[in-house]
Amino acid sequence: MDKKISEIFLNSLFEYDGYACHCEKDIENVAPGQPPKTTLKLYSDINKPLHFSYAPRAGLNLTGPAGGIIEKNILGKLLAIPDNNIDKHIEFFETYGFLLPIKNDEYESVDAHALMEIVNRIKATIHLMNSIAGQKNYTNILIMTTYLLFSLPIKLELAESSYTTCNHKFTSLLYTYNLFPDLSRNQEVFNNGTYSVQDTMLGKSNPIDIGFYNAIRSGQGTELEGSKCEQYKHLVAMYVGLPREDENVRQIIDFFFHYQTEVGIFNETDYRRISYYGHPKRENFTDEMKKSLLNIARIVISEEINHNIAGIHPIYDVNEFAPSWQVSNLLQALYFSIFYMKPGIEIYKECKNPNCKRDKFFLVEATRTNKEYCCVQCSRAAASQRFRNRQLDR
Ligand SMILES: [Zn+2]
Repeated sequence: MDKKISEIFLNSLFEYDGYACHCEKDIENVAPGQPPKTTLKLYSDINKPLHFSYAPRAGLNLTGPAGGIIEKNILGKLLAIPDNNIDKHIEFFETYGFLLPIKNDEYESVDAHALMEIVNRIKATIHLMNSIAGQKNYTNILIMTTYLLFSLPIKLELAESSYTTCNHKFTSLLYTYNLFPDLSRNQEVFNNGTYSVQDTMLGKSNPIDIGFYNAIRSGQGTELEGSKCEQYKHLVAMYVGLPREDENVRQIIDFFFHYQTEVGIFNETDYRRISYYGHPKRENFTDEMKKSLLNIARIVISEEINHNIAGIHPIYDVNEFAPSWQVSNLLQALYFSIFYMKPGIEIYKECKNPNCKRDKFFLVEATRTNKEYCCVQCSRAAASQRFRNRQLDR
């Protein structure tokens, strides 16, 4: 452990103090044929205080009391937790403490699935920032943006605090909005059989066929596979019925209306994939849609970060006699680190060594496209692996 006061400590933008925690796993079989429900039982260990500090380029680090780095790049460690692997999540929380303050003298119960969804949202936000930087991966951008917008908010109730994931305005509308305006006496409908919607993606008004509108409204559906699905129905209602909605929400509505009407209607959306009702017509994913998707991704990232750092306050530190930030939990510290990441300048990259045990997700300047390994050891290990494979191929 490095005991000398490091440069990082002196340059830190914010700090956070927490405790390591202990975590047990309760597995309950609820119903025959159903997967068991896993509940985590957690308590914090006040004998194991943890000190985190954030510095530009170095990211969020676990530091000793004198500022030496014990463990660097905590955000990268979180990204490296394998998806849906509860034991690896537990390992992370036992080492770096829980996301929110928990009691030290009694168990707090947290649903394992809800907790992993919260972690997935943090990962998705970072992956989304990476995907819009440099060479853009539109499939990833679509999956991550859709995941963050289409999943219902998750709530954690703890003894002394509670937390809800970001509830985007679009998300609440998507699950509830069912008001189809009555267009039967509309002049345009009478004259042309269409109703024009001012469309932010097309930058002009878009005439909607009244037969299509009525078929969606009545639940009868059209030849579009999945057009009877409730979320798509709500989307059409929003597209036609909310012309004066906030500009950001309107952009999101317009994009998903076009994407789902022209490419394919979503059946299920989750952190890593989207499934469609029919076979998606990917050739209809136009440059215009991609441009609009980039804007939406930026809106979603901002809303996610703003929601999660809203509890952080500036304070004037009496002892240091300097300005500082009051960061009250690990979740805020993680999102505050994302807040300070420079989009398009710094990105997280996955080390190309499949057996990497060091810095699997490392922070690097976006322009350094040739840096593929987290460290020299990994690059050497991969090179000798390639050499061995060549020997075997002979
Ligand atoms: Zn590595």
